[in-house]
Parts: sequence; structure tokens; C-alpha cells
Amino acid sequence: MYDCIIVGGGIAGLSASVYLRRKELKTLLITLDIGGRTNLPKYIFNYPGYDKIEGYKIPLSVKEQAEALGLEIKYEKVKEIKKHDDYFLVNNHSAKTVLLAFGKAPRILNAENEDKFMGNGIDYNIVNYQRYKSKKVAIIGAGNSAFTSARELNGIAGEITIIHRSEFKADETLVNEVKSFCNFVNANVREFKGDNKLRHVLLDNGREIKVDNVIVNIGFESDNSFLNDIVGLNDIGEIIINDRCETSEKGIYACGDCSSVPFKQSIISAGEGAKAALAIYQYLSGSKLKTDWVH
Ligand SMILES: Cc1cc2nc3c(=O)[nH]c(=O)nc-3n(C[C@H](O)[C@H](O)[C@H](O)COP(=O)(O)OP(=O)(O)OC[C@H]3O[C@@H](n4cnc5c(N)ncnc54)[C@H](O)[C@@H]3O)c2cc1C
Repeated sequence: MYDCIIVGGGIAGLSASVYLRRKELKTLLITLDIGGRTNLPKYIFNYPGYDKIEGYKIPLSVKEQAEALGLEIKYEKVKEIKKHDDYFLVNNHSAKTVLLAFGKAPRILNAENEDKFMGNGIDYNIVNYQRYKSKKVAIIGAGNSAFTSARELNGIAGEITIIHRSEFKADETLVNEVKSFCNFVNANVREFKGDNKLRHVLLDNGREIKVDNVIVNIGFESDNSFLNDIVGLNDIGEIIINDRCETSEKGIYACGDCSSVPFKQSIISAGEGAKAALAIYQYLSGSKLKTDWVH
């Protein structure tokens, strides 16, 4: 029986694991990958302590730190969480507490033939830079993710077009940078066309754009299907937490992007993970002992 099972190996779950292990709580982290969405930007420019750092390096170093402290990691998809009298079952692993830190998943456009070309012409983030070398790439979206993808493919892709249906929502500095090399089309995407290879994007105004690759960057949503209503969610599917990262179910905590905490940033997820771990420690130890320097 674990003291805590963490679901998700992004920066939120990993940061929590360091704090839990430093309290010597028996901790298992179950995840699909290490790093989650912090791996996506080639460089992160706003993580305190670094002017500029490759995204993947932040969670990787936290993972190494946690493993040195005795963290156990299993790579599997969590499909089910069940509540028993005084413990929880996560897949088939049992624990006294659960920390949900599973982030968000990319949103799908739901255009015709999107399924057909998923992973075979259509990606939801930059997969590997070689894939786009000298190619005609269309990026769909109007926010920071779309503009970040464009910036990162500048000088690699042959031609980049952002297809956006709304006003730009990305940071002004990023928009200005991308405007200098990118084409823009203001329209909705109706259909993806091609035989066994993606060849065109059909817009709702009837225009067709020739493409080799498409990156859909229209935001992220919570994939809560495995929770089975065990915890309360807000109207956009985020797990509602209080200021101690407690959910509506005693013993289940949540932190980071999957939670209702405002602002989704790596440093915020890291801090929330630490906070959740300290709250779990107090819950398990029944301790009124103070765990920080102030009290
Ligand atoms: C393109 C882009 C650029 C960004 N740039 C910045 C930036 O410059 N600076 C910044 O601070 N933030 C940036 N962000 C936001 C930042 O990446 C997120 O806020 C942060 O990664 C959230 O961390 P998290 O640990 O809460 O969730 P995530 O990073 O999403 O991690 C979730 C983890 O849960 C795992 N998981 C999910 N479902 C399951 C399941 N069912 N079973 C097992 N494991 C599961 C995943 O594999 C993953 O490891 C950016 C985001 C994007 C998309």
C-alpha cells in the first residue's frame, strides 16, 4: 500500500514527488511520460532561475532528483480510480491518498477527415523538427501555442501559414515576431483532403490550401473520463480544489493544469505540486506540526 499515488509525470506531479519523498512517504508516480507539456516549447523563457532553458530539461532534472530520493515510477495509462473504505485503487495499485496531476490533452478540431490523417500529416504539437523540414506547414489556431509552433518552425519549414478563425490571442511580442515570416488566413477549416497522404486543407469559404503537414493548436481540454465523477469538476472540466489542493473527495488531491487553479504555467504547476504534497503529508500524519519556516 502506497501512502500516495501521483497520476501524471509533468512538472506538477514531479515536484510533488520530491516533497513527498523528502517526508519519506511511500510514493508511486504513474504516468504516460516524463515532462508532459513542459517538454513542448523548445525553450522556456519565464522559468525563474533561467534566462532560457530547453523545456524538457526542467522536468527531467526533477525526475532525477525524485528518483534519487526513492520515488517509484510506473509508465502506464490510468484508466480507473476506485474508492474503498480507507484506501483508493488506481488501476490495480492501492494507496491511502491520490494526487491528480494529469494536465490537459490537446483539443481536436473535429473537421472532416481529421481522424484519417491524425499522426499521418496532422499533429497536435511539434513532434520532431525533421518532419517539417522544407515542407508547407499550416498551423491552425490563434493563441500562444500556434504562434510558438510557428516561431519554432521558422527556418525549418519551407512555408508556414497560420489559419485562424478568431482574433490573435497570443502575446504581442510573439505575434510581432511571427508576422515577419508567416502567412495568415482568416477562415474556418472544413475538411482535410488527400489520398493516403494529406494534400489540402479545405476552408469554409471554398478555398483550398496546399499543405504537407498541419499542426492543430487550438488549445487543450481536460480528459477526465477515468475519474467517473469521483471528484467535483467546474464547467470546463477542471478538478475543483481549495487552497490546500483538496478536492471534493477526502484523500484525493489535485494540482497543476488539470485543477481549477488559475493560470496554467510550468512554475505554477511546480508550486502547486509542492503545496499538495505538504497538504497530503499533514493529512496522513494527522500532524498539526508545521511544515514550513514561518509557523
Ligand atoms: C506550446 C506550449 C507552450 C508553453 N510554454 C510555456 C512557457 O513558456 N512557460 C510556462 O511556464 N508554461 C508554458 N506552457 C504551459 C506549461 O507547459 C503547463 O502549464 C505545464 O506543463 C503544466 O504542467 P502539469 O504537470 O500540470 O501538466 P502536464 O505538463 O500536462 O503533465 C501531465 C502529465 O500527466 C500524464 N497523464 C495524462 N493523463 C494520464 C493518464 N490517464 N494516466 C497516466 N498519466 C497521464 C501526462 O503523460 C503528463 O506526464 C506551455 C504550454 C504549451 C502547450
